[in-house]
Amino acid sequence: MPLFGMFIDPLYMIMLIPGLLLAGWASLKVKSTFAKYSRVPSSRGLSGAETARRILRHNGIFDVHVEETRGMLSDHYDPRSKVVRLSPDVYRQPSVAAMAVAAHEVGHAIQHAKGYAPLALRSAAVPLAQLGSYAPWIIMIGGFLLHMLELVYVGVALFTVTVVFQLITLPVEFNASSRAKDQLAQMGLVSRADASGVSSVLSAAAMTYVAAAVSAVLTLLYYLIRLGLIGGNRDE
Ligand SMILES: [Zn+2]
Repeated sequence: MPLFGMFIDPLYMIMLIPGLLLAGWASLKVKSTFAKYSRVPSSRGLSGAETARRILRHNGIFDVHVEETRGMLSDHYDPRSKVVRLSPDVYRQPSVAAMAVAAHEVGHAIQHAKGYAPLALRSAAVPLAQLGSYAPWIIMIGGFLLHMLELVYVGVALFTVTVVFQLITLPVEFNASSRAKDQLAQMGLVSRADASGVSSVLSAAAMTYVAAAVSAVLTLLYYLIRLGLIGGNRDE
């Protein structure tokens, strides 16, 4: 957002370019890793859908459905309707990548069933975070145009909420992946080679969340420094 002349502000460049580069790299990495392990057949010949259903049953979860959804890497668990939605590649293919993603999404369903607190916190914060993608910027720009510093602070406070949301996402995602790996190993659904492929796919996916969080924290720090709220100098 062009609030402080971001194109000529070296601090903006120094603080935000690394986050953007990291996010870009993580996004390429997750796509290439997923593509690589999509071509590696799972040793048990299980598709993502079968993997998901077996893990759910094994955990005594019978009220969560597994459905196919459109798009690539659009896989998610919807806690409101209790549905694990898997993209066509994951749903149908008997690949190591499909197993990894399916087991991860079921990891969220297990979190939900067990009342894992960070997931509940994240679900509760979703509406705020959605509001947070535009509202903070509009309020901040409004504050600058109207010369109302209080309004700028409100914008920063709202943006802080979205950053906190990104940070809550991290333990939720790491925990879902570690549950996925445990379940696959415990149930004997993966060979040793499968398990290492599963780890690669899940680590690559985790990096995208880390990159988003790093980027968000750096953006927040930038505005706090430029507003003189931290660091002590309010240079223009
Ligand atoms: Zn996840």
